[in-house]
Amino acid sequence: MIIHNCEGASVIVGDKTIYMDNSATTPARKEVVEEMIPYLTENFGNPSSIYEIGKISKHAIDKARKKVADALSAEENEIYFTAGGTESDNWAIKGIAFANRNKGKHIITSSIEHHAVLHTCLWLEGQGFEVTYLPVDKYGMVTLEELKNAIRDDTILISIMLANNEIGTIQPVEEIGKIARENRIYFHTDAVQAIGHVPIDVKKMNIDLLSLSGHKFEGPKGCGALYIRKGVKIETLLHGGDQERKRRAGTENVPAIMGLGKAIELAAGEIGETDKNLLALRERLIEGLLKIPKTHLNGHPTQRLANNVNITFEYIEGESLLLLLNAKGIFASTGSACNSSSLEPSHVLMACGVPHEIVHGSLRLSLGRMNTEKDVDRVLEVLPEIVQKLRNMSPLTPKEYRTI
Ligand SMILES: *Cc1c(COP(=O)(O)O)cnc(C)c1O
Repeated sequence: MIIHNCEGASVIVGDKTIYMDNSATTPARKEVVEEMIPYLTENFGNPSSIYEIGKISKHAIDKARKKVADALSAEENEIYFTAGGTESDNWAIKGIAFANRNKGKHIITSSIEHHAVLHTCLWLEGQGFEVTYLPVDKYGMVTLEELKNAIRDDTILISIMLANNEIGTIQPVEEIGKIARENRIYFHTDAVQAIGHVPIDVKKMNIDLLSLSGHKFEGPKGCGALYIRKGVKIETLLHGGDQERKRRAGTENVPAIMGLGKAIELAAGEIGETDKNLLALRERLIEGLLKIPKTHLNGHPTQRLANNVNITFEYIEGESLLLLLNAKGIFASTGSACNSSSLEPSHVLMACGVPHEIVHGSLRLSLGRMNTEKDVDRVLEVLPEIVQKLRNMSPLTPKEYRTI
């Protein structure tokens, strides 16, 4: 992998390390950085100012907004820039809840949402709202029957993610949107992981609100967007100035917005080509890893993101796996409880019914446009040895799966 720094010089990373954690974040691509630089330097004007360099910033933002709208088949005035996926999810859910609480206090979501959705819903429960967390099947799929049964007279919002960040399962969003529309309930989808992988048409899919985040598709961190369909009744989250048509205050992050616009234009334009390559790598990786005994694929076998591989290895800890992979220059992620950021094992794998004793042995390898067949083969070369080494050390491993 070649990473370009701001001056256009390249740092070769690939010969030494393999980055397979693209669902956590991605490097900004060269074209994105180039698009951003002028707005950090000569075009630094505040978009709210009426003089020339202010107007340059304002026009630039409008161009980026059009790119986001085009990628979603939305209108320009339905796109609002935010500080990322977390803010977009918070705004969508809290905004709908508080603007429509005279109609009802019930929200439906799923048990495998990102914490930006789940913790927001949990907080709303403390504010007097009621939330139904839909279960999922063993592939991480929400069932339409279960959704229909959960709908009440006082349901105001359904929030179901388009694609899951841990296991890559893609939900039947178009059908969910149809059910929501028929019942006159707002439908929000967290599409943070789907951009650049799943073609999106908000009208065809009956989506009222959609969250996205720049750094998940080779754009800048700390910048995202919320699509709000025209006519949707929503409260403002951030109060202050008149930016974003008086709905999201704060001086616009112009360079990041420009980068996000470029990134989504490229990602949406290349969906077919990117996913064809990723799919081949994904299948090669899955096939190779499942040759290791006592391993299981998590998530859906076919309805999954082209870049997602999530495997459980019995008898071992995901965290130890990550450390040994790291020592070999391979960067990945786990749903194990010891995963530095949380104390609980993955709520997603638990919801899929992965047994408690093996949920700690999960490994997520999320591919990016930069990964090659050589990277995949390198992982397939080192992982079996690492797994065996850990199994030999684990008191849980039965005799037949030990080599010493
Ligand atoms: C990363 C992620 C988020 C949060 O986005 P940030 O921009 O990092 O705040 C929300 N939902 C999903 C599915 C994600 O993968």
